[in-house]
Amino acid sequence: MDRMLSGIKPSGKLTLGNYIGAIRNFVKYQDEYELYIFIANLHAITVPVSKEELRKNTKDIAALYIACGLDPKKVTFFIQSDVLEHANLSWIFNCHTYMGELKRMTQFKDKSQKLNDSSINVGLFTYPDLMAADILIYDPKYIPVGEDQKQHVELTRDIAIRMNNKYGEMFTIPEPLVASEGARIMSLSNPSKKMSKSDETGDKGCIYLLDDPKLAAKKIMSAVTDSEANVKYDVTNKPGISNLMEIYGALSGKTNQEIEAEFKGQNYGVFKSAVADIVVTTLTEIQAKYKQLMASGEINEIYQQGAIKARAIANQKLHKVYRKLGIE
Ligand code: ATP
Ligand code: MG
Repeated sequence: MDRMLSGIKPSGKLTLGNYIGAIRNFVKYQDEYELYIFIANLHAITVPVSKEELRKNTKDIAALYIACGLDPKKVTFFIQSDVLEHANLSWIFNCHTYMGELKRMTQFKDKSQKLNDSSINVGLFTYPDLMAADILIYDPKYIPVGEDQKQHVELTRDIAIRMNNKYGEMFTIPEPLVASEGARIMSLSNPSKKMSKSDETGDKGCIYLLDDPKLAAKKIMSAVTDSEANVKYDVTNKPGISNLMEIYGALSGKTNQEIEAEFKGQNYGVFKSAVADIVVTTLTEIQAKYKQLMASGEINEIYQQGAIKARAIANQKLHKVYRKLGIE
């Protein structure tokens, strides 16, 4: 099986968008790839966050990933900071990346534009090097990414090629895998904006996996639609309805055609109730498993075991790099 790796930053509460666009795919991938998944808590401190919030987000995300169906027997699942080697390797990469390369990263440009030099921390600038280390330390073949991370994977490839050329073969060159079933779930209150876990203004338009299911149903029922009464997939003219169809389709396995036939001649209330029902069922199941993992403490055991497996590989790789560079 080919190796695949993915990390998620604990920068907020997981949303239904994260579930449909990412986590659900991993549940499928765990049978097709040798999968490594980690919670990127070191990346979360590039922006200010309280220790309580960071701890809670990290643990919640860990438990939710498992509650959503990741099987710790199949997946190596761990927390980034438990494997010290990532940060060690990122220092090596800091010394092999150029200012110009990092300055070109569009995420850095976007984020730094809003800040001035005395309020922007260096971590925000160098985090692509940590990301490269997160990846290259495990020699994965595939990195599933959204559009926004493609440039960072390109940089990761450049670093791997550069190091291999300079010091001799040491890294596999990873390939970005841009998800084909790239359902992008939009905000329920503003369907032109993506549902996003770090968007604090988005509560009304955003369904969190740990929302009370009743509240989630309410959010669906008050989702922005249009003035027709026609359940039809048309992202340009009917973004609200199309978004609800994406959600319904993803959770029921039905195609847009099937959904249109199912709700032909019905008003939006009927359709929204059906979407709300399936969201409630999904959240209720996930939350039951989440509660059990947290209450039993089983989640701690899962990520500690995962870190032992990950560390064995990461440690070997780091020492190989150290030897090639003459550090050892
Ligand atoms: P942030 O606001 O911190 O960027 P996010 O919700 O956009 O949070 P990411 O950490 O950027 O989440 O992405 C995690 C995974 O979830 C990625 O694979 C991304 O493609 C997927 N994802 C994020 N938001 C959505 C969405 N609205 N619809 C579908 N997939 C999504
Ligand atoms: Mg994002």
